[in-house]
Amino acid sequence: MDITRDTLKTWTDSLGLDLVGVASLDGYRDVDPQWNPLSILPKAKSVIVFGKSIPRSYFRGIEEGTLWMRVNRYLPPRPAYYLCRIFEDNGFLAVPCSPLAQDRWPDGVVTKEGKPAPNVMPDINLAGQLAGLGEIGYNGTFLTPEFGARQSLGMCFTEAEIEPNTPFQAGQLCDRANCLACVEGCPAAALSADGATRKVGDQTTTVGTYSEEKCTFCVNGAFPDTSCATAPPNKLAAACTRACIACLEDGGKIKTGYKSKFRRREAWGFDTFE
Ligand code: SF4
Ligand code: SF4
Repeated sequence: MDITRDTLKTWTDSLGLDLVGVASLDGYRDVDPQWNPLSILPKAKSVIVFGKSIPRSYFRGIEEGTLWMRVNRYLPPRPAYYLCRIFEDNGFLAVPCSPLAQDRWPDGVVTKEGKPAPNVMPDINLAGQLAGLGEIGYNGTFLTPEFGARQSLGMCFTEAEIEPNTPFQAGQLCDRANCLACVEGCPAAALSADGATRKVGDQTTTVGTYSEEKCTFCVNGAFPDTSCATAPPNKLAAACTRACIACLEDGGKIKTGYKSKFRRREAWGFDTFE
């Protein structure tokens, strides 16, 4: 190994990050070149996913319906920039990836036959699960044992070999068969109770399907994706995800303990076109 996971953790700690995991490129064997890090860095050996918690208090005003605050799914470019510099200072190439909605791409001309069109945009939630940080929940939000749905994620790929984490086993946090609080928590009935299957490395998991129109115009805490009109909105603070935050905490699945419950009264909500 070129770099130990302990060393990587020291680096990400120095950048104030709360989470870091390493995915092996083995998990990308069946991933289409359009979404595959190897299309960007063909000699990549490790995919690094890192995250920072979003304070629970940021959701308080939205939960009360009185103060709208933006909670970002993705980290700004700065931590990835500094992490790549640390890799380069140690002699290894690392490429930052600023996640934007996959719906935004491709949006360019193929530069060489056989190559995917730019931009190639790997799925950060897939990478997060392959890197052992958590799992893609039924409502599509990334969930971790530390913070549930409350984190912003970032990613980079490197040619340094780092011992990979074991991919996170689906179902440890999101009990799809018995929960579906996210489905019940949507006042617009926009999230299906029947999921579609998706591959995560060697695992197969289920994710609900959304009514795109209802979610795009959701009035229950979702924020439009300003990078692309056809991309789904940021649902982190929407009623569906806030129901998930409450159920994971009440179910004792989140490591952080709070003296008060997240959900203190019946949730408010409106049908999208009400
Ligand atoms: S984003 Fe809004 S409309 Fe869509 S599932 Fe969540 S709460 Fe419902
Ligand atoms: S509310 Fe329940 S079923 Fe929905 S994503 Fe969260 S844990 Fe999974």
